[in-house]
Amino acid sequence: STRRTSKKPRNVLAVEVLENLAKFPHCILLTRVGQFYESYFDQAAEVSQLLNIKLSGKSWGGQRILMCGFPVLHLHKYLKVLVEKNKRCVAMCEEFLREPLEGPKGGFDRRVVRIITPGTLIDEPFLNADENNYLLSVGTRRPVENSTQVVGLSWIDVSTGEFFTKDCPVENLGDELVRIAPREVVMNKDTAKDTHLSAALEVMNQEGIVLSLVTPKSVESETPSGPTRDLEPLTSTLSPNESEAVELLTTFLHDNLLEFMPKLTQPSKEFSEGKMGIDSHTVKGLEIRESMREGGATGSLLSVIKRTVTSSGSRLLARWLCSPSTRLDEINFRQSLVAFFVARPHVRDDVRQLLSGAEDATRILQRFLLGRGLPSDFSSLNSSIITWISINKRLTMEHEQELKERGQLDANEWSCVDTLLGRMKNLTELSVRITASLTRTDLSTDPEPEPEVGEEVTSDLDSPTAGTNLSSGAAKWTIRPDFSEELADLHKTMTKLLREKDALQQELGNKYGVSSLTLRSSASQGMFVHISRAKRDGPILAECPEFFHLTQTGSTRTYFHHKWAILGQQIVETSFAITAAEKKAFETLRDEVTIHAEDIRQNARLIDELDVTLGFANLAAEMNFCRPTMKDDSSYDVTNGRHPAVELGLLTSGRVFTPNSVHLHPESCLHIITGPNMAGKSTLLRQTALIAILAQTGSFVPAEKATIGIIDRLFSRIGAKDDLFRDRSTFMVEMLETAEILKHATPRSFVIMDEVGRGTTIEDGLAIAFSTVHHLSSVVQCRALFATHFHELADMLGQPADDPVSSSFGNINFYCTGVDETDDGYFSYSYKLKPGVNRDSHGLKVAHLAGMPQSVLRTAKGAFEWLRKARTDNNSQRAKELSKLGRTLCEISSPNPAP
Ligand code: ADP
Repeated sequence: STRRTSKKPRNVLAVEVLENLAKFPHCILLTRVGQFYESYFDQAAEVSQLLNIKLSGKSWGGQRILMCGFPVLHLHKYLKVLVEKNKRCVAMCEEFLREPLEGPKGGFDRRVVRIITPGTLIDEPFLNADENNYLLSVGTRRPVENSTQVVGLSWIDVSTGEFFTKDCPVENLGDELVRIAPREVVMNKDTAKDTHLSAALEVMNQEGIVLSLVTPKSVESETPSGPTRDLEPLTSTLSPNESEAVELLTTFLHDNLLEFMPKLTQPSKEFSEGKMGIDSHTVKGLEIRESMREGGATGSLLSVIKRTVTSSGSRLLARWLCSPSTRLDEINFRQSLVAFFVARPHVRDDVRQLLSGAEDATRILQRFLLGRGLPSDFSSLNSSIITWISINKRLTMEHEQELKERGQLDANEWSCVDTLLGRMKNLTELSVRITASLTRTDLSTDPEPEPEVGEEVTSDLDSPTAGTNLSSGAAKWTIRPDFSEELADLHKTMTKLLREKDALQQELGNKYGVSSLTLRSSASQGMFVHISRAKRDGPILAECPEFFHLTQTGSTRTYFHHKWAILGQQIVETSFAITAAEKKAFETLRDEVTIHAEDIRQNARLIDELDVTLGFANLAAEMNFCRPTMKDDSSYDVTNGRHPAVELGLLTSGRVFTPNSVHLHPESCLHIITGPNMAGKSTLLRQTALIAILAQTGSFVPAEKATIGIIDRLFSRIGAKDDLFRDRSTFMVEMLETAEILKHATPRSFVIMDEVGRGTTIEDGLAIAFSTVHHLSSVVQCRALFATHFHELADMLGQPADDPVSSSFGNINFYCTGVDETDDGYFSYSYKLKPGVNRDSHGLKVAHLAGMPQSVLRTAKGAFEWLRKARTDNNSQRAKELSKLGRTLCEISSPNPAP
């Protein structure tokens, strides 16, 4: 459609801009003027700096003001900078050409149609398709008075429509924020001031989550007909705090999405009960979603195990990994699907192939629910539905074939697939309807010509931005001419008129023998007759009274012709009528699709599960993973487990990972791991936790054999990369995290602790390490791995001289990683876990390896020998004393004293 620069006097625009700036003071205002988005006044200086574009000025009402602008074409590039990089809110003021039939000259309306914030992206091309883009709200009915008080959370991905709520104690808010990873959080101004929320605010700050504060009263009064009224059906099953959160969220959405507000569906209520609790340090420390080193996805667990083929499958995988299940039936169901596909590589390949052609149905559906979308979206959605049907067919075919070949099927093996397919909704009818409603033109063979009267005009069905990706594909989809009777009649009329036009052109050409004559139109000249060989044909037409000369250039002439003017006008009107009818048809079809929203969502979700489990099967086959046996107890038996990310890292440099076994049971639930630096302690701890996460997510695990009792919460105290540089403050962090663990771990939890007590003096550190281990093993009695270089800890825990593994605390055992000496005086890490305590720190060997000057090494060696001798002399005495100390301490403090 045509769009011209506004003909309104400039000062009208100035008034509009000033009004909008006052109305949206927290936003950057982008005002569309013709083919540009512009920014004015002081804001122009800021925008030009942020976007690195030229700042210029203009005169408005005799006053000189600042302005800058960029072409419409670059909108997304610059939005990415403003919203994603600088986390700003952008108010989009669009201009709309009034319907030409509504007035003689048309004209423009200009209004703010939407405020784009980091958490309310819809389908911007810079949206990462593999990640959810959540907006989260924190709601509470009454002021927060203590840290255990429950608040309501609700979070939505506007681009997909996924919508959740949850009740959550304030003290867990930080953990939830890291797990859910919203881009933006909405809070009531008063709530945010509460001191009990300061930890959560700190997490937001660290994670770069935008905080948007709202004043509920004023917001409500601005939208009297607003969200609260129609929230009833959404919140009926929610807790008061959750309802509060949903209200806050929807109010915020209304205020920002404005004309793009989607129809919301019932949010799914999330419960902590069915999920493994992973606190925020652990999600980050274990590098589940992102690696700490690069800060990006590379090297993370997610990046290493991801084999999904669709974007929506990738999003589900990321969500699953951060909240593994604790429900045996759910885990077993997923594992069975993985096992099914592991056993059938050919089916796996076929289904993956089919999946790779599927479109992001959830996002497309959401576009429709947002009142947006293009005809091509119908065809994309349809291709998804067809993919789902094909996958169903492929699996059913396999079923029949196996039945034929084997005579009988293993019901257990097939039941998971049957259940999954059984839950799929049949959308064949919808698919047929879409196919019958659309028609396709190939743009590659038929490049889009300049719009010209008589051509079919493509309707700009939505706002200006919606139309921008129209020509991205090689095909253009339009509503079929026979979609409705009205449309069919209009097309018939159009065909007739076009024929008349051809006939008229022919007739005029023949009558006067002017072969270069064509009937044309343009925005400025209206209908005109055109000749391209003016020298020959011009003099002929000059003689004819039915042609009225308009313009001329070197070789062309144009003329007014009454009959063509009338006919042309009819064509224009019919073309507009077709556009309007197509728009109506589009909306009808969109309504028909959105009626099936729930079914489409359900199928999409099932297919995502299929994608994830299929990916797990591929991973298992590729990296030699095994199916873990899940139990409802507190065991952890993993034989020859591996760390998937470290293993992959080694593999790329041609090295081999040394697998290790870990067996934890109630009678041996806490293992102390000692060993020199760089010998693999931390890797072992991490792999133990990652294997549990993978198992409870439903994946197979990197091990030879595994039996795992369901873990309710996973805790970790593992060093961050900057620990070494900021010892003092890190010690505080370490103590805070340790305190959290000791307070919240249950007998079904799993704890890994790396070098607790490192950032302080030996006495302090040892004392804290001992008391922590003691509390975990005798009070909490959960599964735990504790890596330390305080080998005196072993003495305090009473390691008998004749038994390297046992401790006088019945459920604590000792293991260590070590180095192998080589003949040439060098050494190599074995990475193999052995029973016992490693009391040698190998510091001098490392110094040697690092190339310390020989003289320094000699001096160090002398000092070392002396110190060691001094220590060995009174070593056994000291060990005895420490052991006695350990026992005494236990007797004072423990409900279960040491034997
Ligand atoms: P520590 O915690 O004892 O200082 P790390 O666990 O950080 O040691 O391991 C140091 C490095 O050793 C790792 O980055 C990895 O390259 C290598 N490594 C660790 N465990 C193994 C293993 N089981 N097999 C092979 N290499 C390993």
